Amino acid sequence: MTQRLDAIQKDVLTAIALGQSLESTMLHLCERVEALSSNVMCSILRIDEGGRLRTLAAPSLPEAYCRAVDGTEIGPVVGSCGTAAYYCRPVEVLDIESDPLWANFKDLALRNGLKACWSSPIVSVGRVVGTFAFYATECRSPTDFERNIVTACVDLCAIAISVADSRDRINKLAYTDHLTGLGNRAALRDKADAILADAAQQERDVCLFYLDLDGFKAINDLHSHGAGDRVLREVAARLSALASDADIVVRLGGDEFVVLIQSDGTPLLYERLARILCDGISGRYTIKEGTDAGLGVSIGIARFPQDGKNVDDLLAYADNALYKAKAQATTKYVFFDASMRKDQLQRRALERDISHALELGQLHIAYQPIINARRGKLAGFEALLRWTHPIRGNIPPSDFIAAAEACGAINELGRFALREACKEASRWPAPLRVAVNVSPAQIATNEFARVVEAVLAETLLRPERLELEVTESVFISDPDSAFHTLQHLKKMGISIALDDFGTGYSSLSTLRSFPFDRLKIDRQFVAGMTQNPDDAAIVRSVMALAHSMKMEAVAEGVETEEQKTLLGLMGCDFLQGYLFGKPERFAVYDALTQIVTATAAARYHPPSIPRQ
Ligand code: C2E
Ligand code: CA
Ligand code: CA
Repeated sequence: MTQRLDAIQKDVLTAIALGQSLESTMLHLCERVEALSSNVMCSILRIDEGGRLRTLAAPSLPEAYCRAVDGTEIGPVVGSCGTAAYYCRPVEVLDIESDPLWANFKDLALRNGLKACWSSPIVSVGRVVGTFAFYATECRSPTDFERNIVTACVDLCAIAISVADSRDRINKLAYTDHLTGLGNRAALRDKADAILADAAQQERDVCLFYLDLDGFKAINDLHSHGAGDRVLREVAARLSALASDADIVVRLGGDEFVVLIQSDGTPLLYERLARILCDGISGRYTIKEGTDAGLGVSIGIARFPQDGKNVDDLLAYADNALYKAKAQATTKYVFFDASMRKDQLQRRALERDISHALELGQLHIAYQPIINARRGKLAGFEALLRWTHPIRGNIPPSDFIAAAEACGAINELGRFALREACKEASRWPAPLRVAVNVSPAQIATNEFARVVEAVLAETLLRPERLELEVTESVFISDPDSAFHTLQHLKKMGISIALDDFGTGYSSLSTLRSFPFDRLKIDRQFVAGMTQNPDDAAIVRSVMALAHSMKMEAVAEGVETEEQKTLLGLMGCDFLQGYLFGKPERFAVYDALTQIVTATAAARYHPPSIPRQ
């Protein structure tokens, strides 16, 4: 008998070491122990966090009895197990019918044919974590051998429970986002497969909401990271409350969250939930006492099974939709649709192709004249990248610059544009200038100023003849470093223009953040100014603003004589547009630069200012 008990111990320890589940290990233990002794039934209970008994294993006890016991709170007179756990000592009840400890439970036990119950507490790290009990169908006390079994089993159970608890704690740590207490990316990955499989089996839909906060970065930058953390915790709390029916809510990282919810899936329901999430998350958040800040949210939504069959696809598609939601000003949630998949594939293909375009010699620079409005003379050219794709033909920069930025090719492309433009401009008569567009990603590299210096040294172009055009977004990610780089370039004698003014953020604080030499008014306002009084008013005020801040104003997209005249009257300093010339290979303008006052000037008639 003792040998058989040793064998059971060894088997159970092996099962624990192999990581088998606590339930199956305990079940196995009960079955093996019951075989050693006649007419006993074994039960192993856990004590939950609320001090209630929970059945782990009791293979031979009637199911109705186990169900009735489950959830009973431990106490001084709660049968054998509840009392053993409460006092942390073994309780041997030889006759359930007459024992006062069983007064409230004896009917249940007797109805199920149980006459005696001997229970011992399972103690792990000084705490009662469960009970191990034998039930007998006759009134009797345990034999010595049965007492030995109990002693051995109680220790085994303590080890098994403590190992299972540690495993749960480690799992919890690995699957929890420590900042917010929500699940993390690993938890999503771990649970999503089961959620999707379950939904497939029940023919239900699953909806994945991919949330990204708007304006969070500003809070992090303007206030402390501690403030950012507080806001993220608050967002997590609101999200948990708003999506309490969700199968899982996780923080993917940064300011991105995912909600996965299974339902019978009417689009209307999802739409309503999207709206609830938008309304509930966006709003004011307390940063510290007396200070709060506004936060918005954008949501991309993908559905199972119609959009994607696994969580990776759903995430990618929801991210596509999110990209679109971010760009929208009003509706901040967007459902994925198949056209976005096509867009994404095309974007990927474009990114792949643009990264090889330079080495394959598919890029060249086009030059567009810029006219000095007052003197009616050619002032220089803007250099604009052109890509001739072997299959798709000419691809406009509006399509490929973003792809080059996304795949990192922009630095190489930008360097190419800068070198080509400076090389070309070094052959022009002074003081013709060349304006080169620069992406925020280029400025963000620490070496940008050095690259420009090297190109000027190589091409022998004087810095005063180079102008760099940047957009407001240059100040978004690291404003201080962008400022220093631009300052350095300006000190070298290079002029800096703010491009596309009037679009994007158009914040006046951008104008204050750097002493730009020129301000380029976006062509959409120029296009509208002769018809739309609002556009005309914008152009006029941008011009006034530029002049009051000692900057020169450049109007882009001048296509008609009427626009030219009106801009002249408004005091615009430089004009650029199809009226004077389209972006062309430089050969087209070669003659023009040789006689600086030629074509453009001949076509150009300065407006006469009407008398008041
Ligand atoms: P941008 O800097 O605003 O360039 C002006 C754009 O307006 C050019 O478009 C030009 O062809 C177009 N344009 C000029 N005059 C007129 C006109 O009278 N009417 C109309 N409708 N359009 C006119 P393009 O060449 O397609 O360039 C688009 C954008 O691509 C540029 O906008 C610039 O932001 C970017 N880009 C071009 N080359 C480079 C480059 O080398 N580096 C970087 N980072 N961006 C570049
Ligand atoms: Ca430009
Ligand atoms: Ca522009």
